[in-house]
Amino acid sequence: MNVVVIGGGLAAANAAAELREQGHGGDIVVVGGEPRLPYERPPLSKGLLLGSAEPEDALVHPREWYDEHQVDVRVGTLATGIDLDRRRVRLGSEELPYDRLLIATGATPRHLPPADASGAPVLHLRTLDDAIALREQLTEGARIAIIGAGWIGLEVASAARQRGASVTVLESAPLPLQRVLGDQLATVFADLHREHGVDLRLGAQVSGVEHDHGKVVLHAEGSDPVVADLLLVAVGVSPTDELAARAGLAVDNGILVDARLRTPDPHVFAAGDVANHDHPVLGTHVRVEHWDTAIQHGRHAARVMLGSDEPYTRLPYFFTDQYDLGMEYVGHVAGGTGYDDLVVRGDLAARQASVLWLREDRVVAGLHLNDWDAIGPLRAVVGQPVTDAVRDPSVPLADLVDGEG
Ligand SMILES: Cc1cc2nc3c(=O)[nH]c(=O)nc-3n(C[C@H](O)[C@H](O)[C@H](O)COP(=O)(O)OP(=O)(O)OC[C@H]3O[C@@H](n4cnc5c(N)ncnc54)[C@H](O)[C@@H]3O)c2cc1C
Repeated sequence: MNVVVIGGGLAAANAAAELREQGHGGDIVVVGGEPRLPYERPPLSKGLLLGSAEPEDALVHPREWYDEHQVDVRVGTLATGIDLDRRRVRLGSEELPYDRLLIATGATPRHLPPADASGAPVLHLRTLDDAIALREQLTEGARIAIIGAGWIGLEVASAARQRGASVTVLESAPLPLQRVLGDQLATVFADLHREHGVDLRLGAQVSGVEHDHGKVVLHAEGSDPVVADLLLVAVGVSPTDELAARAGLAVDNGILVDARLRTPDPHVFAAGDVANHDHPVLGTHVRVEHWDTAIQHGRHAARVMLGSDEPYTRLPYFFTDQYDLGMEYVGHVAGGTGYDDLVVRGDLAARQASVLWLREDRVVAGLHLNDWDAIGPLRAVVGQPVTDAVRDPSVPLADLVDGEG
């Protein structure tokens, strides 16, 4: 059986590793559009910008690994078509046959038409090369404007402030991260950035971008114009699913896959940011744009390709590091508002706390701020029924797991 993986990112590299770890002896070809071996993206908005990490630290596997494991990794190679009937992937004029195909093409940053049309110094952050270009601009006294107070916008704001740049963030919503975290937690992040000197302009809808002698001038309703040396557009990503759609696979906010990461075509699977997965525990389709999901999806899809019948049940997990705040989150709150109650243990203002989101009779999500021992108990509690002890913030999180709750 030969396996072709389209997309040379985190999900692809982990799928290849799992195939070999499970004893798959057939061919594995990984086709990656970027001119680099698969790498991890989280450092691109953190350590790499701060200077505490270098590009080679981000590699998923060192170069030798691919030879040692006989994985034919073709970097800088775009898959241009998929013929489902003939089971072929087109690479321009070349064709690759497959018995099993994994599509792990990730996601692509959304662009703002006015910003990109202006010719102003504008960056997006997705690739290692984007991060290297951005790092060069984060100097003492540089003026950085960021559109979008999502994870990437805020992580870059944190790195830029730590490198001495002045930072203005424009966000159209009333709070940063509001749709993910809800008002109370979103306020923690707004306060964090303002305390570190970020000019955070909320409810600011960008209406125009000008290019003025190498500077960028941003106009937004509800805000004075912002003049900056560099504009980072961080307004989210879209799944890179055109290739799959053109092949005739079902696509709706990503490639639709069942609980086992299978498309309706029995030979084709999808994983990572591009996969819109029918999550059996959450009871809904979710497309998760996080590091942990890319790894675990890639590995799970590999096992299913080899014959496993296990559904993918792991709950979404993600983390962020901004200034001295570390956060880990597990679970899923639909639209940021799909909960009835929130229980806080600890002190949110001091940013030392854990939080549980409750919906009807279930704990649907949890996070901690700077409480690294909490992630184990959080993982155990999320998905469990709500008890009096869960609702009682004086009962330590660990006791909920020990059965004392
Ligand atoms: C700056 C940044 C910081 C992040 N920080 C965090 C974090 O702190 N915590 C967290 O949980 N998550 C974080 N993430 C998200 C996480 O990195 C992604 O969820 C993960 O990389 C997704 O992996 P993937 O393999 O699905 O896709 P990707 O990593 O996007 O890889 C897909 C690859 O497929 C290639 N490709 C696309 N089309 C084709 C084609 N036709 N032919 C060949 N190749 C193709 C692309 O070029 C790309 O290299 C961050 C992401 C970014 C960009």
